[in-house]
Amino acid sequence: MGEGHPECPARLDAIEDRLLVTGVGDALQRREPTPASLDEIELAHGRMHVAALRGLSAQLREDMQAGGPAHVQIDPDTALNVHTWDAALRAAGAALDATDAVLAGELENAFCAVRPPGHHACRDKAMGFCFFNNVAIAAKYALERHGLQRVAIVDFDVHHGNGTEDIVAGDERILMVSFFQHPFYPEGGARSSAANLVNVPVPAYTRGMAVRELIELMWLPRLEAHRPEMIFISAGFDAHRDDDLGQMGLVEQDYTWITSRIKDVARRFAKGRIVSCLEGGYNLDALARSVEAHVRVLADL
Ligand SMILES: [Zn+2]
Repeated sequence: MGEGHPECPARLDAIEDRLLVTGVGDALQRREPTPASLDEIELAHGRMHVAALRGLSAQLREDMQAGGPAHVQIDPDTALNVHTWDAALRAAGAALDATDAVLAGELENAFCAVRPPGHHACRDKAMGFCFFNNVAIAAKYALERHGLQRVAIVDFDVHHGNGTEDIVAGDERILMVSFFQHPFYPEGGARSSAANLVNVPVPAYTRGMAVRELIELMWLPRLEAHRPEMIFISAGFDAHRDDDLGQMGLVEQDYTWITSRIKDVARRFAKGRIVSCLEGGYNLDALARSVEAHVRVLADL
């Protein structure tokens, strides 16, 4: 995204380092993704959006060879470089490969440590550090290509997953549950009305105990009623107390608790099937500790 941008490669390095020093990484099976195909991306995105990003990417490459700048700005927060297109296809591809592996019974669940994130990417618009909506693409893929009837998307990033909502609102096969700081970027969310969305806006400085109560009251009954055959997680860790991009007060133990509740639902209705994809989380230490907490629950460590 450019120098000094919070959505930076160091995020994945911090996660890798943490999994290494804690020994958690030793217990995991690692896989490298194959890039998603354009057909797969278009399960959740309009053909014009995909073509426009591809065109921008090709144009940037040409301009750079002629001595031009290394980035194209898509919005004030979001820039594309010459590697973005490939990275975005691999990020979505990771979610799809994970979905295949989990549905084949090779893995009970998977965590995709991917960049760029996806949950702000709308059907026809890249924004908020996101280009393709990894989780929405994977959810549609599970329905369309694997023939599942019902899936759930759980989004615990501090920001509202407006892109996911844009793609899944009104699709009764998908139940989306989320909480997010409100009012806050990217606005919206609080007034959404589609029956398959459970949006829980919370004010700045809300702490973990209050969030847990809201999850018990608002998410769990709806998840149980929906009986998802598979659960996708937009795993953003920027609601952490130490994260400066949000003003909420979650800590690692809250991510342990939330992940455990999601896993309970998955065990009851979905044979434990979960595919979790990294979204936000910008304080490197807090991000690494929170991912460790999340992965420990997923891996039963
Ligand atoms: Zn976020």
